[in-house]
Amino acid sequence: MTAHETVGGVPLVYEENGRAQAFAFEEGFHGQLDAWFGTWQARTGLTAGSIRTYGAWIDGGADCGTSWHHAGRAFDIAGINNGDQVVVSCREDTWREFSETNRAEHRRRYWMLAASLHLHFAYVLTYLYDGAHANHIHIDNGVSGSGMSSFRTRSRVQNQAVQAICRYLWGVPCEITGDWDRQTRRASEAVLEQLGAGGALTRGENWAVFLDGSIAR
Ligand SMILES: [Zn+2]
Repeated sequence: MTAHETVGGVPLVYEENGRAQAFAFEEGFHGQLDAWFGTWQARTGLTAGSIRTYGAWIDGGADCGTSWHHAGRAFDIAGINNGDQVVVSCREDTWREFSETNRAEHRRRYWMLAASLHLHFAYVLTYLYDGAHANHIHIDNGVSGSGMSSFRTRSRVQNQAVQAICRYLWGVPCEITGDWDRQTRRASEAVLEQLGAGGALTRGENWAVFLDGSIAR
């Protein structure tokens, strides 16, 4: 493992104390994070000055129960800032208390970020997964390895993301069930149609089209 102070050239800041510091990563995983960040930045056009994190290797706390942290192949994102300005907040524990208008804007940025992460990694845990992820998004490459993600209809975390993206980014009604049910198939097809792609989310490149088209929504 190697210590890195940046992801995508942007300094990492420890969410617990607000200080810039280095974190240990497995080298291939760090390269995947660089690629993810490049996608997010290119698609959103947003400016990032720091990436706030609970860490990569050093995390591994009881609240984030995966051994991939110990392998340097997991990362916990708390948000992206530009100076003092919050660009994206993964602190759903904070913005859930805001007024509806303010909350809706945070939620939109959150799911745009989550869409970019789901494109690059198959295992992405959001606040919909459990209470331990109300203050960060966890990603690791334990499922997708060195490749981009693919959609599995049995994946609860991917189904939750599809449902939240349809609902919060596209305004297509969809209940958050975590299951690949009929309403989710229909809602995702409605979004794909708007993106000019035909058929089911499970077909061909549609998973990538769905996510890529949602990053800048
Ligand atoms: Zn984690």
